[in-house]
Amino acid sequence: MKTIVLKIDPEHLDLEKIRIAAKIIRDNGLVAFPTETVYGLGANALVDEAVLKIFKAKRRPADNPLIVHIADKDDVNFLAEEIPSEAEKLIEKFWPGPLTLLFRKSEIVPDVTTAGLATVAIRMPSHPIAKILIEESDVPIAAPSANLAGRPSPTSAKHVLADLGGTVDAVIDGGEITYGVESTVLDLTAKPPTVLRPGPVSVEELRKIVGEVEVHPVAEAKLPAEKAVAKAPGMKHRHYAPKAKIIVVEGELERVCQKVQELADARRGSGKVGILGTRETSDRYRADVVKIMGDRKDPRTIAKNLFKLLRELDSEGVDFAVVEGIEPAGIGLAVMNRLRKAASHHIVQV
Ligand code: AMP
Ligand code: MG
Repeated sequence: MKTIVLKIDPEHLDLEKIRIAAKIIRDNGLVAFPTETVYGLGANALVDEAVLKIFKAKRRPADNPLIVHIADKDDVNFLAEEIPSEAEKLIEKFWPGPLTLLFRKSEIVPDVTTAGLATVAIRMPSHPIAKILIEESDVPIAAPSANLAGRPSPTSAKHVLADLGGTVDAVIDGGEITYGVESTVLDLTAKPPTVLRPGPVSVEELRKIVGEVEVHPVAEAKLPAEKAVAKAPGMKHRHYAPKAKIIVVEGELERVCQKVQELADARRGSGKVGILGTRETSDRYRADVVKIMGDRKDPRTIAKNLFKLLRELDSEGVDFAVVEGIEPAGIGLAVMNRLRKAASHHIVQV
């Protein structure tokens, strides 16, 4: 298959190109497109045949459910069976934006989309290209991250083409994304509401709106999901893993820095060794490859670069990498969730 690349400036939307993509969605094809979190791989969420193509292209296990993207808040009403009162407050505050809400699903949502679950995950993205693509397609769009299953999520069209070029109908290249980590997933069918995946909307912000909010052990990702009670489907699967073997070091900063260097030194001479540090610490490190994830003072910069750097470890042939952990608060919890999984939960606490 030849993949069409549609380059679109999010600030000057080219409606003709958007309509080419929307027609592909309506014809049950696959379109990868930018959102404010990461690039998504979209198909008509209400048609089995279209949704199955997503699973096939990504080689995604069929028991890993998809998020349904909408462009109008009111569309929740026909996709969800029951809208709890907390939902209205959260939608008012955070939509459009990087918060996915879990509801009991309505009949109209096919089982393939939700991987056979009785719940449906719904989000209204704020990215102008995502919004207009959904509007022009005139259907809700199921869209997981546009990477091969198990690989780091894509934060550029280049990443999408590296994983899915030749297997999807079109990729919209809309340039940079805003956050770089996937949406926060909040289960509203649980009491109290429970975060299943940390993301750009922090647990602290959610608590301000709805009071008590629990964080599922899977969201912390300190343990492999199969050990952390499997209530979060899809989360048991291998994630974000580059080919390099990764170790994350967490704890008090000074000791973390020492441990990172010590672990890198111990591997010297046995393959290419990398270190992922931060702006404040990277000068201190010596290894074959040293990369800066971002500023500790502004963890959003770390979130934004994370997946790109994990991909770079592979393209530069790094065999073993030590990563400096950051404080698991705010968007930092989302970063640590991705890092702990990328490391297959190989965590050193100092
Ligand atoms: P992705 O868009 O690739 O980041 O994947 C979407 C993720 O959302 C899945 O891996 C699940 O963890 C989560 N998700 C989607 N639908 C549900 C659901 N009905 N119940 C629990 N988690 C869900
Ligand atoms: Mg994904």
